[in-house]
Formats: sequence, structure tokens, C-alpha cells
Amino acid sequence: MDPRKSLSEFQLVRRFFDRSPNRAVLGVGDDCALVRPDAGLELAVTTDMLIEGRHFAAGADPRALGHKALAVNLSDLAAMGAAPRWALLSIGLPAADEAWLEKFSAGFYALAERFGVDLVGGDTTRSELLTLNVVAMGEVPAGLALYRSGARAGDDIWVSGELGGAALALRRPEIAELAKRLHEPEPRIELGERLRGFAHAAIDVSDGLAGDLQHILERSQVAATVDYERIPRSPVFAALKDPRLEQECILSGGDDYELLFTAPERERESLEKLSDELRLPLTRIGGIASGAPRLVVRDAAGNPLSHRGGYDHFRDPG
Ligand code: ADP
Ligand code: MG
Repeated sequence: MDPRKSLSEFQLVRRFFDRSPNRAVLGVGDDCALVRPDAGLELAVTTDMLIEGRHFAAGADPRALGHKALAVNLSDLAAMGAAPRWALLSIGLPAADEAWLEKFSAGFYALAERFGVDLVGGDTTRSELLTLNVVAMGEVPAGLALYRSGARAGDDIWVSGELGGAALALRRPEIAELAKRLHEPEPRIELGERLRGFAHAAIDVSDGLAGDLQHILERSQVAATVDYERIPRSPVFAALKDPRLEQECILSGGDDYELLFTAPERERESLEKLSDELRLPLTRIGGIASGAPRLVVRDAAGNPLSHRGGYDHFRDPG
């Protein structure tokens, strides 16, 4: 591209990332944005980064990337029981490619507007590798945020939606019906907000069920048993007939962005009603017990299944 015809950094921001905010006092354009949380609310703040070659392949669909860069952050807010409000977007781009930016921005704003999130600022720089970082902020009534550390002996373990689909999509890209699970995950915002006061602990499944549940166990200092057969999974697995791959995707596959949470037994009925109301499956997959923070996954015969923890960027193969 002829650099003289290229958009400047400021034109680029104005054109693609500067829609007027609904809730912020001040949005894009000044040295800082200004936001004012409502009285009695705590600000939940999170950030997640996506890097070309690590989190997505070069040439990935820009619209889906715009969606996913925000979605993974909104999923963290959901897991905390927070209502999403504001976001910052920092991008490193190889070039000011207008067609690419148009689609990326459309994907980002489609999700942002669906949940009433204002893009209030960010940073834009040139970089060899496409790099995307979002900061998301949400509000949660003081004292009601869902911590990882709240699980108690006797709690049920629940998970929303289906697991394993995103991990399978990565290994079998030819299965078209799974691609959306991987590339355009749906953050479980309504569920997270409705779990306030119900759930004792919550986390979003970004690195795999076993690894993410282990985080709850360690923060809460409790043990867990999960019944493998009860874990809700993509119907595609039934046709695949590859039990090893299925187990790997369901227990250790990441990127599903479902919510994993614990709640006392007395909430079973309310959670079933909530599932109907939200039209989102909520499945009880096991229970919490006192003891060292260890997860046992049992097969149908009650025998323990071996599994590995969640994905680790520094320990696992790239
Ligand atoms: P500064 O030099 O003060 O950091 P910049 O020149 O980097 O400001 O950015 C100018 C304005 O544009 C700021 O309000 C910043 O938040 C906003 N901005 C820059 N890049 C983005 C982006 N990718 N998305 C949204 N807002 C952005
Ligand atoms: Mg800047």
C-alpha cells in the first residue's frame, strides 16, 4: 500500500472506533475517558489479549476477531456477575487496511451495542503481528460479585451450555457447524448477572473444564467430583465416535466461554427455572466436598478418569 494514501492514526480512530458513548461522561478523543459508576456499585475490571499466530491464525476473519476480542473480556465480567459497561481497545496493526478495519469494527460494535458497552478509548500502533487487547469494565452491586473462592462443601457444580465444541473446531476445522463456537463465542452475560446471590463461586471456561474448576478448588480450598457422562457436550461428538478426542476436548479443551459455577443444593429448582427462562441449558455435573483441592472425574462405572489441567502458554506446546 502507498503510505501517502494510508489513513493516519487519528483518521483511523475517528472513522472506525469513535461512536458516541451512551453511559460514559467522556468517550474517545481526550487524554482519558471519564466514567462514573453508579452509587453502591463496584467496578469490575478485566483485560485479555489476542495475538496473531497464538490465539488466532493469520488471515482470520476480521469481523469474528472484533467480536471475539470483546467477547472473551465480557465473559470474564459475566463470571464475576458484573454488568458490562465500558471497554478500551488497543490494537497493533501491520497496516491501516480500511476493508479489514471496517469489518473488525463492525464485529466489535455489534457485540458492544448488544450489551450496552461503550468503547471509550484505546491505543493504536503499528506492529508486525496483529495484536488485540481489550480492557472491559462492568458494574456489580457491592458485596455481590461472584468470586472463585466461594465454593463450599455440599455445593453442586453446574455448567452452562455445552463444552468441547470450540476445542473440536480447532482440531476439525472442516466441521462447519462448530466454527462459530470457536470464532464467535457468546459471553453468558445475563446468566452471570442472574447468578448473583445464588451461586457461591463462578469462573468462565476459557482454558478447559478441568483446569478452570481446579482454579475454583484452589481458591476455595475444597475438593470436587465430576461425573464425566453428565457433562453437556456438542452433539457432534456422538457422530464422531472418537472417545479419546471427545474426552480431551470436553475436559481439557478451552475457548468455550461457558460459565462454571457452584451453588447450594437448595437452589436446584431455581436454577432449573432460570435455565428455562434464559433458554440456556444449565447442567449439574458434580459436587463439592471438603478436603484438599483435588478434582476427581468419574466415568459411568464410577472409576476415575485421567485428565490434564488447562492450557498453559509457557508449559504447553504452541
Ligand atoms: P494519547 O497520546 O493521549 O494516548 P492517542 O493519540 O493514543 O492519545 O489517542 C487519541 C484518542 O483516541 C484517545 O482518546 C484514545 O483513547 C483514543 N483511541 C486510540 N486508539 C483507539 C482505539 N483503537 N479504539 C478506541 N479509541 C482509541
Ligand atoms: Mg495513546
